[in-house]
Amino acid sequence: MSQAKHSDSEAAVDEMRRSEGQGLASSQALADDAIIWASLHGLLVGLGDEQRPYALTHAPISVVPVPFPRDSFQKARAAMQVFNKLIDRVSRDGDYLQRTLQPAAEFDDFTAKLLEVYRHTEGIRNARAADELVLAINRSDYMLDEPSSTLLQVELNTIASSFGCLSTLVSRMHRHILERSAQPGVDLGRLPENHATEEIADAIGAAVSEYGAEESVVLFVVQPNERNSYDQQWLQQAIWERHKIRTVRLTLAQIAERGALDANGQLRVDDAEVAVAYFRAGYSPDDYPTDLEWKAREMLESSRAAQCPSVPYQLAGAKKVQQDLAGPGVVERFVDGPEEAALIRACFAGLWSLDDVEEAATAEVLARAEASPDDYVLKPQREGGGNNLYGAQIVQRLQQRTGLAAYILMQRIRPPINRSTLVREGQVIEVDTLSELGIYGTFVRRGDRVILNREAGHLVRTKAATSDEGGVAAGFAVLDSPYLT
Ligand code: ADP
Ligand code: MG
Ligand code: MG
Repeated sequence: MSQAKHSDSEAAVDEMRRSEGQGLASSQALADDAIIWASLHGLLVGLGDEQRPYALTHAPISVVPVPFPRDSFQKARAAMQVFNKLIDRVSRDGDYLQRTLQPAAEFDDFTAKLLEVYRHTEGIRNARAADELVLAINRSDYMLDEPSSTLLQVELNTIASSFGCLSTLVSRMHRHILERSAQPGVDLGRLPENHATEEIADAIGAAVSEYGAEESVVLFVVQPNERNSYDQQWLQQAIWERHKIRTVRLTLAQIAERGALDANGQLRVDDAEVAVAYFRAGYSPDDYPTDLEWKAREMLESSRAAQCPSVPYQLAGAKKVQQDLAGPGVVERFVDGPEEAALIRACFAGLWSLDDVEEAATAEVLARAEASPDDYVLKPQREGGGNNLYGAQIVQRLQQRTGLAAYILMQRIRPPINRSTLVREGQVIEVDTLSELGIYGTFVRRGDRVILNREAGHLVRTKAATSDEGGVAAGFAVLDSPYLT
């Protein structure tokens, strides 16, 4: 009985997702509804036109939500607080971070530079360890692997985990679309609540309150000409409305110019004392075109303000660390007991180190990857999408043999294919798609005292099945939400 209801409901949404058999007019009408709702409710991105900085369009979206298995969704949610704890403990183990990342740093200047800032600021960090203020806004990303019927982690982001606010709006938009469509069989109870905006704003609010200075502000460290600024603006608005805390947006170059640090580590920009530096920039080498930006980073890192993320947190989110944690006995050193370790390990895909290509086990996996590159993804220590290698590119890079320590090799996850109607800048397309689930996690700590550790909402991104990469901001994907089956 419940099985029949289950599949009826799934079929009803499936039917809406594909316009086949209904004609393009019907899918166009739903898409129109979605675009109008998005525009009326601030589900927006910039056009990226430097001459007209306020020129807008609706965010790229899927018109209706994507069927997603409830048990996998719950599993990902249940693991989030343990992931928060894991990453926090990894970030506190400087020896582990340096040991794990040094081989990559030999061939990757960006990782080397982050490690350099880590070492420069080590004395200050150690002196303050007992009362350091830590704020983390993480996002653990997953895809369903169809061949093994398991949910596998793609990566865990510790810096600029974006789209929390726009995804909160997408969840609301999909509820509106399904409710209005009045399609028989559609069950609104299958749309999970999403409070990412509130959760993230409240974590930032908790960190500011713990910082404990009247009139202090949250510094948003942003990229110049950011297209995804409305996701950030929503967060700034929520921080103000829920906590009456002011926010200031500055680029790293502006911070170098307008920021100052006193002898006690108090950070000020212009006249305001900074309680939290929240990074939506700084994850890519492009964010540091000159030494000035690195100077700004080092100043923030030396301050008493909570940095979201600190350099150790950013390093803990490196793909190399993700790969190393999957090795035998490593996660176990950081979490509490076998149950927590099992929760985490259940999400790990196959991950291989390329630190030592002479080693027998590495030589063996290299041979396998060269023989069937489509079963693997080759990943450098980069964030923000568009950096991984696939297929023939993998073979080409692996055959060079040198500098492979800068990469990790990962099992290619094979998600189920759906048919979806997507809209981007008013254009409607119907394509075969893959989806990636993200779960947000928030964490606040003062010294050894954990003040907050929460699962903090979700995000689904959907991309054309023919596209290897999945970033929304990088132009590969659209925002979506789950319809639990
Ligand atoms: P980034 O930090 O740049 O977002 P990701 O590891 O998330 O790096 O990779 C970018 C995209 O590449 C993902 O969103 C996903 O679409 C795709 N991808 C990454 N790893 C895998 C994998 N193991 N299997 C299949 N696709 C993957
Ligand atoms: Mg990432
Ligand atoms: Mg990613």
